Amino acid sequence: MTAREHRRLLVTGRVQGVGFRPFVLRTATALGVDGAVRNDGAGVVIDAVGVGAVLDRFVRLLRDAPPAPIVVDAVRTVSVTEARPPQLGFHIVASALTTTVTQVCAPDFAPCPECLAELVGTGRRAGFAHIACSACGPRHAITRALPFDRERTTMGGFPVCAECAREYGDPADRRYHAQLIACPACGPRLAFTTMDATPLTGAETALAQCLERIASGGIVAVKGVGGFLLVCDATRAEVVADLRRRKRRPLKPLACLMPDVAAVRAHCHVADDERRALESSAAPIVLLGVRPDGRLPLDQLAPGLDVLGVMLPASPLLYLLARGAAGPLVATSANHAGSLSPMRSSPTTGRCWSHRTTRSCGSPPRRGCASWSVVGVDWRRPVPMPRSSRRRRRSSRSVRT
Ligand SMILES: [Zn+2]
Ligand SMILES: [Zn+2]
Repeated sequence: MTAREHRRLLVTGRVQGVGFRPFVLRTATALGVDGAVRNDGAGVVIDAVGVGAVLDRFVRLLRDAPPAPIVVDAVRTVSVTEARPPQLGFHIVASALTTTVTQVCAPDFAPCPECLAELVGTGRRAGFAHIACSACGPRHAITRALPFDRERTTMGGFPVCAECAREYGDPADRRYHAQLIACPACGPRLAFTTMDATPLTGAETALAQCLERIASGGIVAVKGVGGFLLVCDATRAEVVADLRRRKRRPLKPLACLMPDVAAVRAHCHVADDERRALESSAAPIVLLGVRPDGRLPLDQLAPGLDVLGVMLPASPLLYLLARGAAGPLVATSANHAGSLSPMRSSPTTGRCWSHRTTRSCGSPPRRGCASWSVVGVDWRRPVPMPRSSRRRRRSSRSVRT
């Protein structure tokens, strides 16, 4: 019989908060590799026990075949300093809290197609504004410390219900070991309040009230992943002008939020590379050429320009708002020009918010985090589109929110 080896592997890259440990477990189980996987401050540590050739294949699969949004930079074999207790099967075990943290936090991911389908379906998460899974949802915006585990995120204060616990423990479920698993029974709730946080309605009708306020020409501050956005009807020039006055931004281009590419096409030209950018998990603002037959007040939204900044929803809450609204919405940072504090109260504003962000609008990136997901349009910091699209369409570029 061929001797079994014990290897300890350190995997680095975007491997925390992206479903990597369940992927490791499934791969190990399929190959008959015994051992365990855990997060630590440097990445993911795997103890793998098996025949040498099988372990080689295991490492190749980890390196070359992980599903998005996992990104494996390296799989290194490190020395095993202690005798590993004999153990059969493969397990996900508690994270090791190391003093040195070199792992970077994953960015926030826009809702994936499966979660959007659930959101508008008839299941128990229908309309649940905090739907997420192993592949999508906030990461950086809600993480207090690494390694990435629920207790070190703002979701730590929301114990899971029995049904979520069952899904969390089921290797066949797409929320297996998803740290942000939640549902209407156990997750955060929406609130619709005045700017001084006095509730205007109950959680059940918060979204409807918020949409009603927008439909009647109001401006709503939406606290979502990463900070506050000011949201209003983009089709009404007088409402957009009012927003500009309150923000003291007479000329800055304002980005529009729309639910999906089909909605965008009613107002803008969308090339294939622009569609891919819009639908990417970073949900960037993409500058698009405006259709001559569109109904948007471009002189108010983007004075002096012939392109419009458009984004698809970066969170389920924004998706529910965009889908529930009669047309495109303006969605822009809730900061005054030059200010770092959210815009304050006015008689026509309300706010729709949740409990899921660790830092306020305008706060700087935390040390050790790869991305900065502050909500706001910074037109001075373009993120270039892929080379091919720049060659074909010089005016097309995207910016991060
Ligand atoms: Zn998802
Ligand atoms: Zn639940």
